[in-house]
Amino acid sequence: MDAEPFVVVGGDAAGLSAASKFRRAAPDREVIVFEKGRWISYAYCGMPYFIAGRIDQLGDLLSLSPAAADERGIDLRRGHEVTAVDPDEGVVRVESDERSESVEQPYSELLVATGGRAATGPFDVRNLDGAFTLHDMDAAAAIDAYIADPESYDFDRVADTPVDRERVEHSAAQPAPETAAIIGGGYVGVEMAEALRERGLDVHLFQRSGHVLQPFGEAVADRVERELAEQGVTVHTETPVDALRGDERIEAVAFDDGADEIEIDLAIVGVGIRPNTELLDGTGVELGDSGAIRTDEFGRTEPPRRVRRGRLRDRSSHGYRRGDVDAARTDRQPERPRYRRDRRW
Ligand SMILES: Cc1cc2nc3c(=O)[nH]c(=O)nc-3n(C[C@H](O)[C@H](O)[C@H](O)COP(=O)(O)OP(=O)(O)OC[C@H]3O[C@@H](n4cnc5c(N)ncnc54)[C@H](O)[C@@H]3O)c2cc1C
Repeated sequence: MDAEPFVVVGGDAAGLSAASKFRRAAPDREVIVFEKGRWISYAYCGMPYFIAGRIDQLGDLLSLSPAAADERGIDLRRGHEVTAVDPDEGVVRVESDERSESVEQPYSELLVATGGRAATGPFDVRNLDGAFTLHDMDAAAAIDAYIADPESYDFDRVADTPVDRERVEHSAAQPAPETAAIIGGGYVGVEMAEALRERGLDVHLFQRSGHVLQPFGEAVADRVERELAEQGVTVHTETPVDALRGDERIEAVAFDDGADEIEIDLAIVGVGIRPNTELLDGTGVELGDSGAIRTDEFGRTEPPRRVRRGRLRDRSSHGYRRGDVDAARTDRQPERPRYRRDRRW
C-alpha cells in the first residue's frame, strides 16, 4: 500500500467520478480531492435548461453532495486551490480559504481534473451589467435572476445551494431584458438561444465564420439554423461581433466593422474555453497548442514522468466517462480508453 494518498485536483465531473471509482477499486487507499470553489459535482449541461425555466431549482443540477462524498470515503476539501505541483518531490502546494499560508500535500499519484474556464475574447463581460459568460453555476443563477422581472424573481430558484447570493440579488434587481445577443454559435450559444426564446426574449445569435455548430458539419448546421429561425431566433452567420457597448449596463452589440449595431439589454458570450493548467507551470509537463495537457494514449502526461512516489497522471476536462477511465488504472497497469480520444482542444 502506498504511504501517500491519491490526490485529485478539481471536484466536478471528472475529479469526483475518478475519486469515487478509485475508492471502490482500492478501498484501503486514501483519496483527497481539492476543489477551489464551493460547488462540487454540478451538471453544467443542465444550466441552459435551468435558465429556460424547465428545471425548477438550481440545486436539481447537483449530483453528489459533500456528505455523500464523505460517505464514499473521499476526503473532499472545498475552498482549497492547488497552486503548484512539484512532480520531483511528489507534492502539491495548496492554498485554502481557511489559512493564510499555503501548505504542501504529498501524493503518490496525481489526477489533474481542473477543467476549463470561459474565454471572453476581446469582450469585457466583468464590468457590464447584463453581459455574461456561462461556465459556472453562479453565472447560471445570475443570468436566470437577471432575466426575471424584479418584482417576481423567486429566490427559491437557488435555495439550498452555495450560490453567490449577493450576485443573484444584484442581478435580480435589474430591469428585465427584452433583447439578447449571443456571441458564438457553438453548443452553449445554440442552447442559450433556445433557452432565452423560451423566456420570451428577442434573440440574435452571432456566428463569426461559417455556420453554427461547426464541428457537426454543414448538413447539421443547416437544420439547426432552420430550427432556430422557426423558433424566432435571428441567426447572423459570417458576422463577427466587434464590441459590446454600454456604460454600466449592456446597451448594444456592434458588428460589420462597427458599421452596424443592435440595441440589446442582455449579452451572452460563448466563444470557447481555456484549460485551467496554470498549476503545472514550471513542471515540464507538456501542454498542447491550446494550453491543455498533452497526454499519451493512456491519459498520462507526455512524456510519462516518473515521480518520487509514483507517476504523475493527468487529464484536462472530459467529464464522467474520462473520470472512470482514469480511476480504472488503480492497479497501475495502463488500459486503453474504450472510446475515441476527444481532440476538441
Ligand atoms: C453551458 C454548458 C453546457 C454543456 N453541455 C454539455 C452536454 O450537454 N454534454 C456534455 O457532455 N458536456 C456538456 N458541457 C461540458 C461539460 O460540462 C464539461 O465537459 C464538464 O463539466 C467537464 O468536467 P470536468 O470535471 O473535467 O471539469 P470542470 O467541470 O471544469 O471542473 C473542474 C473543477 O476544477 C476546479 N479547479 C480548477 N482549478 C483548480 C485548482 N487549481 N485547484 C482546485 N480546484 C480547481 C474548478 O473549480 C472546477 O470545479 C457543457 C458545458 C457548459 C458550460
